[in-house]
Amino acid sequence: MTISFYPGPSQVYPQVRTFLTDAYDSGILSVNHRSAPAMELVEATFGLLREKLLVPADYHIAFVSSATECWEIIAQSLVRKSAVHAYNGAFGQKWAEYARKLGVEVTEVPFSPEGELALQELATDVLCITQNETSNGTQVSMPVLRQLREQVPGLIAVDATSSMAGIAFDWSLGDIWYASVQKCFGLPAGMAVLICSPAAIARAQELNERNHYNSLVFIDENFRKFQTPYTPNVLGMYLLKRVLETVPVITETDTKIRLRARELYHFFGQQPDWQLLTPSAAVRSDTVLTIAGDTNRIRDWKQFAAERGVLVGNGYGNWKESTFRIANFPALQDTDFTELYRLITAFA
Ligand SMILES: *Cc1c(COP(=O)(O)O)cnc(C)c1O
Repeated sequence: MTISFYPGPSQVYPQVRTFLTDAYDSGILSVNHRSAPAMELVEATFGLLREKLLVPADYHIAFVSSATECWEIIAQSLVRKSAVHAYNGAFGQKWAEYARKLGVEVTEVPFSPEGELALQELATDVLCITQNETSNGTQVSMPVLRQLREQVPGLIAVDATSSMAGIAFDWSLGDIWYASVQKCFGLPAGMAVLICSPAAIARAQELNERNHYNSLVFIDENFRKFQTPYTPNVLGMYLLKRVLETVPVITETDTKIRLRARELYHFFGQQPDWQLLTPSAAVRSDTVLTIAGDTNRIRDWKQFAAERGVLVGNGYGNWKESTFRIANFPALQDTDFTELYRLITAFA
């Protein structure tokens, strides 16, 4: 078996193999999505998200198809007119582009990947933040989010695609949180978790936008009843439920992931060939590491690793050739990292 350090689609939990067979054998894959077993599956999975990720009881949960779909849902159903998009990398920038194409008056606030996000007090319908910028391995910390919360009267939408289920959040600091499951959740792609505060739901009801199959009021009305607006990804929900049953509570995962991140940064920081893309420890991601180096060296290293059964993540966007990325997701085992350390040392 190869080990994949790609930060999405990423290595799935080893137990997924058995869960796939279980899903088939259980008959759940062929049930009507309005039937009791389907609704019980949705309800049980919501319960597990609250129990394991500590999602507050008054936050609403829904399943949609991808993080990209969440970009559109927010633009369609939550923005009155304008949104501020603060970003330092490719995913945050793409989100701003998607919103603009849907007619949102977008104010872009690009910031440097080398420093923390700082904003003046601002009035906007929705502030859009990428909590973990997968393209360059930076993150917006909870203390920074707390500061934003105090400065922004509007809703705060948080793209947490490559950190949800990996690190612990203070959910109260955001109104819309979402993540597709092929990153930190350690599952196959094809589904996303969308979590909304009471304020976000109130905004959706105020706007009452119903022009789309994925209008948030419509989605929410269905999921409140543990139903879905369209035939959902039942296999995705089933796998999510089974994986959530096996993982510890997020505070425990958080401790493990942060510790492993610290070890990884320390290790790479000492390698003469490699530099950390982001010098500032305060903004470095715990779940996606981005390592910079000579372009040819990177190409050779990725090949060296691939020949030995280890897939290293390519760089992304502006950093495509000059960096490689290492996912530090919970589905990756400590022994996988032992192998990574061994290969990096052997390559040097
Ligand atoms: C991967 C990723 C996305 C896109 O996810 P899809 O499931 O492909 O829509 C969006 N935002 C961030 C931060 C990501 O890492």
